Amino acid sequence: MTVVTRFAPSPTGRLHVGNLRTALHNWLLAKHHGGRFLLRIDDTDKERSREEYVEAIRADLAWLGVHPDGEERQSARFDLYEAAFAALKDAGRVYRCYETPQELELKRKVLLGRGLPPIYDRAALELSEADHAAKASAGEAPHWRFLLDRDKPIEWTDGIRGPQHFDPAQMSDPVVRRADGSWLYMLPSAIDDSAMGVTDVLRGEDHVSNTATQMQMFTALDASPPRFAHEALLVGSEGKLSKRLGSLGIDTLREAGIEPAALVALLARLGTSDPVDAGLDAEALAASFDLSHFGRAPARFDEEDLHRINAAVVHAMSFAEAAPRLPHGMDEAAWLAIRPNLAHLGEAADWWQVVTGPIEMPAFDEDTRAFLSGAAETLASLEWSGEVWRDLTGTLKDSTGRKGKALFQPLRQALTGRDHGPEMALLLPLIGRDEALARLKFATA
Ligand code: GLU
Repeated sequence: MTVVTRFAPSPTGRLHVGNLRTALHNWLLAKHHGGRFLLRIDDTDKERSREEYVEAIRADLAWLGVHPDGEERQSARFDLYEAAFAALKDAGRVYRCYETPQELELKRKVLLGRGLPPIYDRAALELSEADHAAKASAGEAPHWRFLLDRDKPIEWTDGIRGPQHFDPAQMSDPVVRRADGSWLYMLPSAIDDSAMGVTDVLRGEDHVSNTATQMQMFTALDASPPRFAHEALLVGSEGKLSKRLGSLGIDTLREAGIEPAALVALLARLGTSDPVDAGLDAEALAASFDLSHFGRAPARFDEEDLHRINAAVVHAMSFAEAAPRLPHGMDEAAWLAIRPNLAHLGEAADWWQVVTGPIEMPAFDEDTRAFLSGAAETLASLEWSGEVWRDLTGTLKDSTGRKGKALFQPLRQALTGRDHGPEMALLLPLIGRDEALARLKFATA
């Protein structure tokens, strides 16, 4: 059977790293099995769903390189939900309720006060047809609950958490439809997972108790449930689900210079026992993707790790890959010289500026100015070649007796305006003879 996975965001906001990780894992799981990955837009909530978020979700996934094999929208599937709902009604698996939130809260408090679990008491099941008719003529529309089968223990083997047991007698019948006819998430999701042939639902562990309820929904719908796996949630480096993490999305990361490949490499392996490896592409990550490598402990997302991985991704980037994003005129030799110094690709422009000038240099003391003046003369007398840095420093070492930092640092500062940077042996040929002489002369002026 072809593996079918899905990512089912509600378009009520932007995706954050936690959602992106879930999307990525579902894509990798499908890819691993040569299956299909669906994007399902859970937009039953007309008030809160926004088209701009649907577009942002698509764009964010595309930026990551996660390409769905199909896209579905719940707002286009209301007929299907009505039909399934009618069947559940006929089978007596959904029932009408009228309690207000205040009444429900009171019931909860009474139960808790008696030391009992706050399970819905099914009072509405006792209503007669005459009661319902009276409610209707008073203009009171019902909301609907799904009737759990309290005699059937709920069990499944979770792909990450192992064997799971839930006692439906300890659960409240969930509300599946509001009085205005709108749907809550749970039933449409089960209907869709079944209708779309979803074989594997991989989502956050905050959904475990929903799964317990949905297991019975699948049975009530005459469908066999998909396999379920629930991954531990993402926490920040400080070990908590921080506010920052809850809102950290692709825009912020992209502005910070993060490459999609770096984010994919990190998120793919976060929460697993597999090491993060910046050198792995999506194919390799999919090939090694394995739910049994996931742990139960919260997965720590550390932005510093991400920046470290990003640097590794940039350091491995070929000129052809980087070229479209490099400053005009920057060639392969320049890319190869500058690349090892980059944490983010955007910094290439700064180093290219160092090559082409103008640069700012520090003021040098008299001694250093004399040394740099000699350096200018030496450089003018040397044959200009790819070895010119070696020749220049070799000659100056002999003529001045300087070595180490005393020899190299003033030259680097005068030629680049910086204390550190790419190898001078590579930079000097890029700067060029005339410009290099001009800089040395300027330093001694
Ligand atoms: N729309 C639901 C959510 O965003 C989907 C959950 C699921 O994957 O079933 O939480």
